[in-house]
Amino acid sequence: MCSKPIPILLSPSARCYCCFLLQRTPLHFQTMRRSLNPLLQLSSTPLRHCQSLSFGSLHSSSRIEGFLKSRGGAFHRLEFSCAYRSKGLRMSYNGSDSSSAPSVVARKPSISFCQSCGGQTKQVIPDGEERTRAVCTICGKIHYENPKMVVGCLVEHNGKVLLCKRKIQPSYGFWTLPAGFMEIGESALEGASRETLEEACAEVEGLSPFAQIDIPRIGQVYLIFRAKLKTPNFSPGSESLECQLFSPEDIPFDSLAFSSIIVTLRMYVEDIKAGNLKFHYCTINKRRGASMTDPNGFDVDYLSPS
Ligand SMILES: [Zn+2]
Repeated sequence: MCSKPIPILLSPSARCYCCFLLQRTPLHFQTMRRSLNPLLQLSSTPLRHCQSLSFGSLHSSSRIEGFLKSRGGAFHRLEFSCAYRSKGLRMSYNGSDSSSAPSVVARKPSISFCQSCGGQTKQVIPDGEERTRAVCTICGKIHYENPKMVVGCLVEHNGKVLLCKRKIQPSYGFWTLPAGFMEIGESALEGASRETLEEACAEVEGLSPFAQIDIPRIGQVYLIFRAKLKTPNFSPGSESLECQLFSPEDIPFDSLAFSSIIVTLRMYVEDIKAGNLKFHYCTINKRRGASMTDPNGFDVDYLSPS
């Protein structure tokens, strides 16, 4: 095992109480402790017990593993890489309470270069903040990464819903609702209408919000509107192989593109059966070990309307 220090970078995920991402960015121990306590849901006292582990200079995976076990099973996964080794190391620790822990794994930061000066960024916790950010090593600009909004339409026509078969990756050849990233300068409603026009060449009207679905793991928020066709015309746009209307009982649940679409259509079919269409809010959490392209590797937390 490498004898050089392995500095630590905490997971940027707000929901993650069980994962570390250890990288090469050095952090002062006080910063580490301040950040670790809320992450581990500990007061400062239990962590003082671990000071002998000397977080600023962890040396081996066995010492890190020892720390995890000493915390009584609050973790289920640990990833780290050593600045002095060419290859990152991974290990898992299945704690006793890991089943109740959110299955969230730290994401790799996506901003590598400064958007102002082009300098390289590094992940640090800026003064006065609690999370790591991509900070420019040249000009010091802090780059904030926030969730993206995906907007789309569940188009109803003669008791059927309009689905598009994807002509692009990811999930090429799988069915989806017309939806995509919202653009600056448009409302969610305008974005959903635009995506439906682009993907299904369909003009819609009478939009009403049907579901908000948060996916913290990938930093996305879906807002899906129910809508009606302005005219009974639709055809595949440039991102679709084909477009088709499906009765609720014929929706191809085995070949839907994304977890968000599966969840939306499940809720829709249940509402139709119950004769009560309402607004839904829920959160999708990817299951531990599930790939991001596995549309069934997830759990859903529903917030029932009071
Ligand atoms: Zn810069």
